[in-house]
Amino acid sequence: MSTLDSRAVAHRSPAPVPTPHPARGRPASLALAALLVTCAVGYVTLGPPGVVAGARSAVVDAVQALLGPWVGTVHRAPVENVANALLFLPVGAVAGLVLAHRGRSLPLLTGVALSVAVELGQLLLPGRVPDPVDVATNSAGAALGVSLVVLARARRRPRPARAVRLRAALLAVPVLAALAACQPGAAAGVPDHARQSAVDGPAGTRDAADGWVPDGESLSPFADLPAISMLDPALRQAVQDAARAAELDGVALRVTSGWRSAGLQQALFDAAVAEHGSEEAASRYVLRPEDSAHVAGRAVDIGPTDAMSWMTQHGSDHGLCMTYGNELWHYELTVAPGETCPAPAPDASAG
Ligand SMILES: [Zn+2]
Repeated sequence: MSTLDSRAVAHRSPAPVPTPHPARGRPASLALAALLVTCAVGYVTLGPPGVVAGARSAVVDAVQALLGPWVGTVHRAPVENVANALLFLPVGAVAGLVLAHRGRSLPLLTGVALSVAVELGQLLLPGRVPDPVDVATNSAGAALGVSLVVLARARRRPRPARAVRLRAALLAVPVLAALAACQPGAAAGVPDHARQSAVDGPAGTRDAADGWVPDGESLSPFADLPAISMLDPALRQAVQDAARAAELDGVALRVTSGWRSAGLQQALFDAAVAEHGSEEAASRYVLRPEDSAHVAGRAVDIGPTDAMSWMTQHGSDHGLCMTYGNELWHYELTVAPGETCPAPAPDASAG
């Protein structure tokens, strides 16, 4: 066989030829996977909150469905932690594959570094609240991803063909998960407590300076943002005291809406009129700026679900009462600490 012949054969059937360096053929697909995963994580963590909230809620709801038998439906915090870890599992897996020749430390460091970068990025974005716990859960997810790759590679050595399939499957899972997390259709899964603020105000009112808190997002009661800082000082203090007490009970108390500008409230009211058909129907859910306790800085909306549930039991210890029976999240400073709350009005239009 001449040199020319053998080259032709090699060109015609390159696939079955066993190569001693399988890494040589995959940098392009790995680079694409790394790019996709980085984009997806960046989009979910730093993207426009109003657009991303639905996808995030859908992922959290899916994890909730999986973990429901163990954590129940009221404990949202562990579920969100697991969702955070799952988000970074593809990061660890892809980093483990791309940096295969560098051992485990560098892929792991890459996951941690990306997580820290995300939290630092959130510092610069209105409505985003960085949380050190996220770095821990994200890093745990990345570590799990790296471990899976290491595990797969250890199993690969004696049986190369099977390992290639395993590696392909490992690569497909994170990429599919990342793509699924970005599906706009996932927005259908917005939980009830997030829907209260799921109204798109016109441009200019969807701003942290107006007290806007994006859909599905929430603020720490200690945040230095107008939604919190513009609250009546007595109310703000009561909510912060309640948050400290809730934390001792293992409940993270968040504020999904606090002070709102009159402009934002008007936009919310207009949107409610459009949704419910009339001003009368709308006022059962959203009040005009001149009537709104939020505009006066005398109301907060609490979330998530376990925090609402905690508040129904302990809110009055801090003088905080639910004022409308159809808004389980809406609290005002109504009584002296320890007094019994009056029965809530059926809805906002009654008050
Ligand atoms: Zn409210």
